[in-house]
Amino acid sequence: MVPEVSKLAAYTSRSVLRRLLAPASMPRQKAPDNSPARLSLISRHLAPTYPINTPYTVERIPSGIDTDLLRKVQSRKLSTTSPATMSQPVHPTLLIPGPIEFDDAVLQSMSHFSESHVSAGFIATFGETLTMLRKLFQTSDPASQPFVLSGSGTLGWDLVAANLIEAGEDVLVLGTGYFSDGFADCLRVYGANVTELKAPVGTKPTLAEVEKALSEKKYKAITITHVDTSTGVLSELKDLSALIHKVSPDTLIIVDGVCSVACEEIDFDAWGLDGVVTASQKAIGCPAGLSISMFSGRAMKAVENRKTPPAAYFASMKNWTPIMKNYEAKKPSYFATPSPQLVHALNTALTQILQKPISERFAGHKAASDKIKAAVTALGLKQVASNPDEQAHGMTAIYLPEGVKGADLLPILAKKGVVFAGGIHKEIVTKYIRFGHMGVSVLDPNRSDIDRAIKALKEGLTELGYKKA
Ligand SMILES: *Cc1c(COP(=O)(O)O)cnc(C)c1O
Repeated sequence: MVPEVSKLAAYTSRSVLRRLLAPASMPRQKAPDNSPARLSLISRHLAPTYPINTPYTVERIPSGIDTDLLRKVQSRKLSTTSPATMSQPVHPTLLIPGPIEFDDAVLQSMSHFSESHVSAGFIATFGETLTMLRKLFQTSDPASQPFVLSGSGTLGWDLVAANLIEAGEDVLVLGTGYFSDGFADCLRVYGANVTELKAPVGTKPTLAEVEKALSEKKYKAITITHVDTSTGVLSELKDLSALIHKVSPDTLIIVDGVCSVACEEIDFDAWGLDGVVTASQKAIGCPAGLSISMFSGRAMKAVENRKTPPAAYFASMKNWTPIMKNYEAKKPSYFATPSPQLVHALNTALTQILQKPISERFAGHKAASDKIKAAVTALGLKQVASNPDEQAHGMTAIYLPEGVKGADLLPILAKKGVVFAGGIHKEIVTKYIRFGHMGVSVLDPNRSDIDRAIKALKEGLTELGYKKA
């Protein structure tokens, strides 16, 4: 903000300020007639201006693009939801790999009245939420420990790096793209000695390469990015964990499941995993703001048996473990204030997810993904993850055809009511776009998000002159 504006902000209400800053042609924000509930009251202020790209790609909007225009596109009323069944203001459908579209009930549970984080009511909600996570991760081992902390998915990396690893210990990172690189960076911050086994863009290290790496050195832990959201590559977690248990049984198996928990199969106990970290805003379908993780009894032992204290305070599992155990035992305790509203939303999201067998949820994501990938292929487009066995089921990374720029296509799609994400992998960043298909957008039969997105993609490409070869 320029200095005059921030001075202005000091004595001007936000809404007035927004009107002052808004271009004259921008429509004034009005409550949509079809959004009855209090929900529209609490979220109305969010509608007018948000960028079409993911946080990672905003800075890459090329200089030629008029960002004011993007804002106008975003603020237009778009008939993208079915007003009869939804209490959310009409908005473009968010089909990026997180945050995803949210269910009404999940959003409404956030407008819970304020309650103490140590009140009996909230303790019951939080405790139940932690117990439900055991079902989501498919663990019945009482030694497994769930954590729900205020933070985003990235906080999970800090949890692992600060608590499971001591400075100087060796960690093998399977390099699949932007997110595995980030995990490696985080581990290094806490002093881990990181070896990255990198695969070419759009692929993952092979089992043979992993076996070779594990036989050359003894690693304290290995990290696997289950779905690398920068490429849409899916790792073969079950086979990998079987291999690791066979060739390096003492190595802790750590999974970045931020883009896979609740849309890809994860069988925590059966596969012998030691840590799976995720976030609220991806396939779980809860607003961003919660770091969600599960650690095995073996991982918890590694934390207990550390020789050095963890180099983190908020992210110290020693500080949080008794709090999580107390909440689950319905006892009050405090280390740092949790977000009751977000925990209510997570409780609702998990209750919905666990209403049906979890296998049905995975199958639903696979069916939608198969349909999307077939449509992408039918359009003559290629995927970043070229091998069908290595393709994620909650997102698709699509190479743009020759001559079509993401910076041109994404605003056209937004105008048609669907928001896709741009690229994020540094080697191919401008060459592809990402289509997120998780949660209600694929599972709610009242929504037609996927069909509309495929149609918009087809039309958008045609408008830019693309013809299938
Ligand atoms: C989104 C994502 C992250 C980062 O999560 P934030 O909530 O943005 O901090 C990490 N890993 C993967 C695989 C992701 O998809």
